[in-house]
Amino acid sequence: MIEFHRVSKKYGETAALADFSLTVPTSKITVLMGLSGSGKTTIIRMVNKMVSPTSGSVSIDGLDVLDRDAVALRRTVGYVMQEVGLLPHKTVLENVTLIARIAGQPAEVARDNATEMLTMVGIDEQSFGRYPQQLSGGQQQRVGVARALAIKPNILLMDEPFGAVDPIVREELQDELCRIQRELGLTIIFVTHDRHEAVKIADQLVVLSNGGHIEQAGAPSDLAAKPASAFVRKILGV
Ligand code: ADP
Ligand code: MG
Repeated sequence: MIEFHRVSKKYGETAALADFSLTVPTSKITVLMGLSGSGKTTIIRMVNKMVSPTSGSVSIDGLDVLDRDAVALRRTVGYVMQEVGLLPHKTVLENVTLIARIAGQPAEVARDNATEMLTMVGIDEQSFGRYPQQLSGGQQQRVGVARALAIKPNILLMDEPFGAVDPIVREELQDELCRIQRELGLTIIFVTHDRHEAVKIADQLVVLSNGGHIEQAGAPSDLAAKPASAFVRKILGV
């Protein structure tokens, strides 16, 4: 599991996070929901050491992230953002294979993993040789997920990954993510603004206000049935 223990992060005078504590259970989907600027991106970037706490600690299975080598750590933690950022002059298969190679996999293994993960996210073989701009936004996002999975992570960080995808495709991507999560036993931290998406995919839903203040955390059905504050009621529309 991932544990945030009394984590604070300051940028000059701004407290992006103040005394944030949370346990993220293994092989479950934890969803962070909150307004812009509430510290969601800061929280997930602490897991792969892109951001370090000003105070407090973040640990994975009892090991402090700060004591881990950043490169080795990022080989076990996949990261997906809204801006997929595929390399435009490389094909779909090359994009995914390249990341697996960078993660240290031998060429053949990397290619096999890339093929397997592209298939898993629903990209058919005819598209492997296409270039990113020849794909729809939804397909590009699938490739982005495949790319994160090709390193064979056990943790997946997803920062508003489906924000730019149209509603029907978005539903499909959510369904497939849940299936893949179960199949691979992934621990996922997923950031979203969308309450429908949050309630649908979350095992644990965490509603945040400014400074990463936890308004409420728990099963989505519990939050909907018993919102702890007006803020939670409003953000969940209940
Ligand atoms: P969210 O993802 O919920 O929108 P962020 O984690 O990106 O929130 O940001 C939380 C707060 O920290 C915001 O006030 C933001 O302006 C500030 N912040 C985030 N990153 C930086 C940075 N690199 N430098 C200065 N301030 C930052
Ligand atoms: Mg953010």
